[in-house]
Amino acid sequence: MTSPFSYAPAPESRSVVEIAPSYGLFVDGEFREAADGKVFKTVSPSSEEVLSEVAQAGAADVDAAVGAARKAFEKWSALPGAERAKYLFRIARIVQERSRELAVLESLDNGKPIRESRDADLPLVAAHFFYYAGWADKLGHAGYGSDPKPLGVAAQVIPWNFPLLMLAWKVAPALACGNTVVLKPAETTPLSALFFADICRQAGLPKGVVNILTGDGSTGAELVAHEGVDKVAFTGSTEVGKAIARTVAGTRKKLTLELGGKAANIVFDDAPVDQAVEGIVNGIFFNQGHVCCAGSRLLVQESVADEVLDALKRRMATLRVGDPLDKNTDVGAINSAEQLARITALAEAGEAEGAERWAPACELPSSGYWFAPTLFTGVTQAHRIAREEIFGPVLSVLTFRTPAEAVEKANNTPYGLSAGIWTEKGSRILWMADKLRAGVVWANTFNKFDPTSPFGGYKESGFGREGGRHGLEAYLNV
Ligand code: NAD
Repeated sequence: MTSPFSYAPAPESRSVVEIAPSYGLFVDGEFREAADGKVFKTVSPSSEEVLSEVAQAGAADVDAAVGAARKAFEKWSALPGAERAKYLFRIARIVQERSRELAVLESLDNGKPIRESRDADLPLVAAHFFYYAGWADKLGHAGYGSDPKPLGVAAQVIPWNFPLLMLAWKVAPALACGNTVVLKPAETTPLSALFFADICRQAGLPKGVVNILTGDGSTGAELVAHEGVDKVAFTGSTEVGKAIARTVAGTRKKLTLELGGKAANIVFDDAPVDQAVEGIVNGIFFNQGHVCCAGSRLLVQESVADEVLDALKRRMATLRVGDPLDKNTDVGAINSAEQLARITALAEAGEAEGAERWAPACELPSSGYWFAPTLFTGVTQAHRIAREEIFGPVLSVLTFRTPAEAVEKANNTPYGLSAGIWTEKGSRILWMADKLRAGVVWANTFNKFDPTSPFGGYKESGFGREGGRHGLEAYLNV
């Protein structure tokens, strides 16, 4: 059904952010070139325009950054918690003040819709710093002993799907606990971390407490292997997580891993259909499906499957795919050519294995990386699209008859990061939540994040928790 109304373009102004033609590494409070002078380009995935050129950190730069973090650790960890809290509060306030600029930057570098970077990413970034600022002087009351100590230098490696938010999840608890950090953003989205470096300077954060090294996987590998590192925190793919676990094994380094997912979003026959459909759409099309906890497997009770799928298709036909800076856009650009190729290959595998593919008619821009919101029905548990993380706007639909079958199918995955339940029965929610092997279980909602709530996985989705009181444990010597 086409809408009788058309939307006028509502572009957010790009002029609120000034992107320099090149950026260095942020080490010991200063921006500097890579020791060997290497650089790489970061492009806007919605247009393929080169946004800037950033330094590619090598072994010598990793060594310098870890050294700077080590030097800064002594004084930073000795500060009273209330003093560290002041810096975190200041960072949170500056993030709020600069949130429009940062939201536009994030949408340009990542491809996500401005509506999401403005209303989800940025408010959550500030909230994380505010929340952990509150813990900094109360660590003795967090349940980890009366005077828990920081670990030292934390090496933090993050992915491209929520660049600044993943930085906040890592940096805020680390600093609150008295650690210093060396953080490596993903190679396709380095810019918001470099702007964050500027925010650290603006906040007067002592030199060396936060160091930012841009680069690719080789930089990440150097960093986690460096012997001056006491703690490794990684968010990214399960494959790289396993490689890091092997590197760290047998060393003194403490490790937390936040990896992939293949969440089941389970809709029962008594669920309010319209509300469930909104939750399904939010679960898989939020952030183009580049979400580790995305509800990528829809499990719908057989008796309502047709009704739910009809409503879902009608809703999907209204999704607006296009310019990330347009405030009307629901689904933005795929983050990179590589990711687009991965999504395309898995969708083709879905068809080849016999599932039925459907996507609403939608016109995709001619430049940039795009993938229409897509639905597969007739999916079996053996299909690759039911087992592998697609990390894109592709939903695989399976059906079930009984709650026990729903649990069995939901848990039939090597992952265990999140799950969703849609039903009116409170007792069923509790029964299901108890049986689902997933770190987060949402009931009658999906993709809700809050800094006070711990997040993390079971099985191949990783170990350790980020957020909440639990998130402190990863950065304390307990
Ligand atoms: P990725 O593992 O390829 O890259 C993640 C980061 O690791 C990047 O910064 C990359 O440069 C770096 N890296 C690559 N190889 C490395 C190595 N050998 N040693 C050290 N660092 C290395 O993942 P991606 O494609 O950027 O992100 C997508 C994946 O991240 C998905 O699987 C998704 O589920 C997962 N993810 C998980 C969470 C979570 O909280 N569980 C959150 C976001 C993303």
